[in-house]
Amino acid sequence: MTKSFMPHFKSGAELLDHQLKGLQWTVSHAYNGSPFYRQRLGQAGVRPADIQSLEDIRKLPFTSADDLRAGYPYPLLSVDPSRVVRIHASSGTTGQKKILAYTQKDIDDWAGFFARCYEMAGLCPEDRVQIAVGYGLWTAGIGFQLGCERFGSTAIPIGPGNVDLQCQFLVDFQSTVMCCTASMGLLMAEEINRRNLRDEINLKKMIFGSERSSDAMRQRIKELLRLEDMFDIPGMTELYGPGTGLECAKHEGIHYWADYYILEILDPVSLQPVPSDGVGEMVVTTLCKEAAPLIRYRTRDLTRRIQHACSCGSLLPMHDRILGRSDDMIIFRGVNIYPSQIDQVLSKIPEVNCEFQVVLERKEDGKDHMTIRLECCQGLAASRKPELERRVANRIKNEIDVSPHVVIVDYCSLPRSERKSKRIFDNRPR
Ligand code: ZN
Repeated sequence: MTKSFMPHFKSGAELLDHQLKGLQWTVSHAYNGSPFYRQRLGQAGVRPADIQSLEDIRKLPFTSADDLRAGYPYPLLSVDPSRVVRIHASSGTTGQKKILAYTQKDIDDWAGFFARCYEMAGLCPEDRVQIAVGYGLWTAGIGFQLGCERFGSTAIPIGPGNVDLQCQFLVDFQSTVMCCTASMGLLMAEEINRRNLRDEINLKKMIFGSERSSDAMRQRIKELLRLEDMFDIPGMTELYGPGTGLECAKHEGIHYWADYYILEILDPVSLQPVPSDGVGEMVVTTLCKEAAPLIRYRTRDLTRRIQHACSCGSLLPMHDRILGRSDDMIIFRGVNIYPSQIDQVLSKIPEVNCEFQVVLERKEDGKDHMTIRLECCQGLAASRKPELERRVANRIKNEIDVSPHVVIVDYCSLPRSERKSKRIFDNRPR
């Protein structure tokens, strides 16, 4: 029997008790160890002794990426610098880097809960895990590797890109699991087919990090590679790194490690809890992180809580996949809308292409109006456009509860960008 990395709670109440103790420890540790936190908590009028229940988390002030940048190079540091054994930086941001420090216990905790990810994905010590994500200052590669070694499977740390070597090792080492972005997964699937290697490899599972994988993309990868299963792995540098949860094989949601952090899902404007299964911003508070503890850290990532217990029987609660970033939210006639919601509606309509623009204007009547300009698929007859416009408008009305004016434009007529495309044009007066 291999070692288990799952928590040993027998009930939800035991988990909540563990969370309260962790919350009390974190507030006290941050207050005593970090001048930043002492000042921030002082401004909010909270002292560690005020945290008597989990509801008292609402008394605590928020922290954000701005606090991390302002505290460069050692933001939120709550231990003596001599106890720091490593730093990482978050990737993908411009300007001042967000640097996070780790003690040895932080690294050990991270490795332990990352090992839990592999356990939840159903790996065993015989598995060979090809790690095709980045190594360096960021947390990706080394996180996947630490967790793999702790779990006891074989890590094959190739790093990203290098398709020739990826293919060669899939054949030579008969790798059973590949960890990569969903885009890389699709690229590999197409390449393996192009090279006719499908019957020479032994790949069974893929674990996708750092990028949301769409259902369409997953379906294509699964078919091309005849995989047993695929999993999305969430995580961010601020919260140790990747591996803060995983979908189980039932795929009813992402189980998250509630024994390491408290997850709040809040309305990004009012900062109040969203109603039961509403979409909101993920706000996290760590329970045992030493070097750079997080207190109500605003991640800007949007998701919703999944209310029902998973049929796998795990007590670990679930959130949905990451649905977008709160910075992208628009408020239209009192409704909060995220571009990813429009994206999701459009992806269900086969006659439209994925490129679109949303234009918001205030007309003479004083009301806000939304126009969605949308490309049709290649070769759609012009005579079919009016019907398609009506159908798209109805779908959006039904699913997002706003009534846009929909204009179907020709295939490939909207501007393309090599960087992120600008899709929202808010021309309303401020
Ligand atoms: Zn489950």
